[in-house]
Amino acid sequence: MKEAKSPKRSLLYYYGIVLIVLLLFNMIVSPMLMQRQVVDTDYGTFMRMIENNTIGEVQMDDSEILFTEKDDANYVVYRTAVLDDPTLTQRLYDSGAEFSGTIEQTMNPLLSFLITFVLPIVIFVALGQYMNKKLIEQAGGKNAMSFGLGKSNAKVYVQSTAGIRFSDVAGEDEAKESLAEIVDYLHNPKKYTDVGASMPKGVLLVGPPGTGKTMLAKAVAGESNVPFFSISGSEFVEMFVGMGASKVRDLFKQAKEKAPCIVFIDEIDAIGKKRDGQIGGNDEREQTLNQLLTEMDGFEGNNGVIILAATNRPESLDPALTRPGRFDRRVPVELPDLKGREEILKVHAKKIRTEGNVDYHTIARMASGASGADLANIINEAALRAVRNGRTSVTQEDLEESIEVVIAGYQKKNAVLSDQEKRVVAYHEIGHALVAASQSHSAPVQKITIIPRTSGALGYTMQVEQSDKYLMTRVELENRIATLTGGRAAEEVVFGEVTTGASNDIEQATKLARSMITRYGMSDDFDMVALETVNNQYLGGDASLACSAETQREIDRKVVALVKAQHEKARQILNANRAKLDELAQFLYEKETITGEEFMQIFNADGKKEALSK
Ligand code: ADP
Ligand code: ZN
Repeated sequence: MKEAKSPKRSLLYYYGIVLIVLLLFNMIVSPMLMQRQVVDTDYGTFMRMIENNTIGEVQMDDSEILFTEKDDANYVVYRTAVLDDPTLTQRLYDSGAEFSGTIEQTMNPLLSFLITFVLPIVIFVALGQYMNKKLIEQAGGKNAMSFGLGKSNAKVYVQSTAGIRFSDVAGEDEAKESLAEIVDYLHNPKKYTDVGASMPKGVLLVGPPGTGKTMLAKAVAGESNVPFFSISGSEFVEMFVGMGASKVRDLFKQAKEKAPCIVFIDEIDAIGKKRDGQIGGNDEREQTLNQLLTEMDGFEGNNGVIILAATNRPESLDPALTRPGRFDRRVPVELPDLKGREEILKVHAKKIRTEGNVDYHTIARMASGASGADLANIINEAALRAVRNGRTSVTQEDLEESIEVVIAGYQKKNAVLSDQEKRVVAYHEIGHALVAASQSHSAPVQKITIIPRTSGALGYTMQVEQSDKYLMTRVELENRIATLTGGRAAEEVVFGEVTTGASNDIEQATKLARSMITRYGMSDDFDMVALETVNNQYLGGDASLACSAETQREIDRKVVALVKAQHEKARQILNANRAKLDELAQFLYEKETITGEEFMQIFNADGKKEALSK
């Protein structure tokens, strides 16, 4: 639907132009068209016509006489000069001529009506038709006129689900299980009505963006083989004022006609936000929401219309929307776990040609935290990379590289780092890796690289957990902070100088330390008191403080102390392993990219050598 927006604007624009043209037409062209022909005649003809009683209308002034012939079909106006003729008036009167103040210099009423009203309308309609046809072509066949009629066309909503099935949605087993019941109901409603059970009218799919909520809704329609109406919440409000409510009404009218069917409302938070009763609030949105609530109340639970809605801000929804009888069933669609990621990768890999030996488990492990949409993107990036390198199938390396592209951006092929900078970056990255490897409870290092990326990263150390982690201990979190400070610590230990390269590390370490204190209850003084509340867990999870100013000061002090302690620990680790730090940094400096195994080999071998020599 989004692409239909600009044609709508240009439709108005076109109509504006047509209006202006018509105005000009009426002001300039039609007066010219309707001007009567004026013929100059001699006075003799005039006198003869008086005698023959053939004068129709006559108009006289000081300089000229205008007259018409009786029953003249051509509507000609004759003009003649004024002569001294005292009995003229009497003779004209006797001849039965009509004296008029002014002779209408225009055509007969029917013709002028045709020209002033009918012709413009015909032109207007013809132009409108033509333009509408053109715009429909532009808008991909949708009826672009429908917006102005207060009624939206059915075609706008009904989408082909293109045969999407549950099997196309990988992972998300819990969500599928929950939705399978609805599919079953749509297949066999009698089974449910016999018992007296009624289906929930609305099901709310909640979860972060790109986790497959839209896909799941389509899959429900695909599995039940029913029509699928889809509209995005923002579409209700982006149109003209007053359109939202009528769109809702229209949508439900159509849905009821087509029942059983699925109505899918994406981004429902756009209309379903809590009504706060503020003066000057968004009236349009509230009307739309009220209409939606009314419609949902208005139909019986068992009429076969199932409404699915998706949102990634469930906490912002109006409670009226989530109460029983409306969207009372909530299906979480979370980020996929390790197994889910592997399955999603495999589903999407079917669409591309891969080498036989691709290890999806490793890729899934590397892509921790990725959503289904990210994974689809990773697969596609890998395929593009294969093409770019002139190959016909995708390799493991393509996939690994594309994860890095999705995480860190493309390699900057011609970024020129000075020799000294490159050395600093190498030490920085090895600093991270060494601190990580020296602590127990740290995720193993998978890869270290110092090739600059378009995201601005000059290098990075990729750590990958063996499996998904659902719980983190306090020690693990502390070690994570220590690892983050390891880069800066290496710069200090080796060069006695610090650089700007640690800004991202600093940000992450601070965030982590802060969460430990304010949200995870991991400080000694605050015990299990929540000092922060998370605002929207699915969209970045920014938090707002919920404590007094004094406590805030205390929190800040504790965050600093926590990070400081871990930074000190990192420095100690690096000082104790200085020889290894130098060797590994040199190795990385030369090779630019090293794997976790290469790193561990040197790390371990070196450790033993040192231990022997001591
Ligand atoms: P959402 O509606 O949750 O934002 P979508 O359903 O639009 O996400 O998913 C976007 C794309 O991501 C899909 O077209 C699909 O290619 C991919 N995707 C997301 N989740 C999955 C999944 N569980 N299985 C397969 N593909 C997925
Ligand atoms: Zn760093």
